[in-house]
Amino acid sequence: MIRREFIESFSSLFAGLLSFPITVFAKFLNIQNAGSTILIKNLITGSEPKKIRYKNFYNEIYISLIEFSTATNYRTYTNSSKRKTVLYLDRDKIKFTAENGFVLLNDQLYNYPYEPVWVEGEIWVCARILAELFNDNTSHKMSFDKANREFIIGKKEVNISNINITSKDNGTLIHIYSDKQFTDKDISLKITNDWFYIDIYGAKVDSDALASRETAGIISEIQVIPFEQSVSFAFKLSRSVESKELIFSDDSNDFYVNLRTSGRQAREDKSKDDLEKQKEAWMVDTIVIDPGHGGKDPGAIGYGNVKEKDIVLAVALKLGEIIQKRLPDVKVIYTRDRDVFPPLWKRTKIANENNGKLFVSLHCNSNNSSRAAGFETFFLSSEKDDKARDVVLMENESIRFESADDQKRYEGINFVLATLAQNAFLKYSQYFASLVQKSLKSKLGPLGMKDRGVSQGPFWVMVGATMPNILIEMGFISNKYEAKLLKQKATQNKIADAICTGIVKYKNDFENAL
Ligand SMILES: [Zn+2]
Repeated sequence: MIRREFIESFSSLFAGLLSFPITVFAKFLNIQNAGSTILIKNLITGSEPKKIRYKNFYNEIYISLIEFSTATNYRTYTNSSKRKTVLYLDRDKIKFTAENGFVLLNDQLYNYPYEPVWVEGEIWVCARILAELFNDNTSHKMSFDKANREFIIGKKEVNISNINITSKDNGTLIHIYSDKQFTDKDISLKITNDWFYIDIYGAKVDSDALASRETAGIISEIQVIPFEQSVSFAFKLSRSVESKELIFSDDSNDFYVNLRTSGRQAREDKSKDDLEKQKEAWMVDTIVIDPGHGGKDPGAIGYGNVKEKDIVLAVALKLGEIIQKRLPDVKVIYTRDRDVFPPLWKRTKIANENNGKLFVSLHCNSNNSSRAAGFETFFLSSEKDDKARDVVLMENESIRFESADDQKRYEGINFVLATLAQNAFLKYSQYFASLVQKSLKSKLGPLGMKDRGVSQGPFWVMVGATMPNILIEMGFISNKYEAKLLKQKATQNKIADAICTGIVKYKNDFENAL
């Protein structure tokens, strides 16, 4: 079956990419426009439009969540010591943390470049992002018109507003909240393989919002696939079903599907404990360090015959050591810790098998021109920036050193398909890349090394890793000055320290948002 959400996240991602590098490195701009206001229109309540103040940060319009909630009659909760505010908008809940790029919307983490700020003892958020988050992920229709300074809240046109799954003694009950009167002619139920489908003719839904509903009982996953005339709800079953029945409500347009199972229920409802476990599973507790090349693959050979494989191994080991010091609870996994060559596919396999939460691949750059210089950080994408082309070609060359059998693994695989599994992590990888690059800049800039920025590219070594991952080119060993620097222990320590700082910031931001 087509995984629709993958395709969507794939296309929506590029819009976000455009603005990213500028904002991350943008100077913290705070132009106070005293008396400037935006108009909030709530079409759901139909109340009188209200004006609230705004401020400019990072060249974007920021609004106070508290003022926003007062103007819209929605509830907020603020924890001042943690600088967090939760906004409750009907049944949607969004949590912002000051100076943190992660946002928790209905227990789902999102990452975006415009961090909330803490001003006048309260949280201010980017109006455009607030609208985008709700609009893309909930049944709310929201838009922010920057030119006219108008923020509009509405509802998407839907007739099935919600689904709720509960675990019962004799099975699992699916409650479908409907505004339209459907009959059994409109609804078909079927079970194929391990999936249970409810197809509803004439249904209109907000598929993203419904697909993210909590699962329970024998249902472990929900997918919502809208077609032109109908909507198909697909529920992944963890146990076989004995019988299924459709029940219409007596006092509303809602209806229910009961999936009967024999014997006792294996799993209880998702409780708070489960949520805690889920959070634990997300913790950044294992970091995979991948020193590029090795063994028969020397990588680039630079000035004075210095080999890429040796420099990256030295930095990798130092990085692992620093991580253990600064984050003693974190497990460090190396794809190699000596002068050997693991094939590229095996490196991501090691990362996945060890439940890695971040994957860091270390490399040195090289160019025919000895003047090429600087450090840069890449994240995996099937798209590549122009300036990434040479690096992608060079790093993917490692495949030459793999056995004929191993090389076959890469044949005929479409890169777009191969990177799909990574898309869920793309924004995280991008954010992680920006933090590491920024931190490298503060350590290597003073040595006269150039900041080449963050780029994206299709690197084989990163394909298949189910975690955010980045590839760092620490400098050009084809450049006399940088080759000398990179050979020095002092520089290697600086690089390792800088990467670790990026990891610490990422880990803090990510975990604080949970
Ligand atoms: Zn390399």
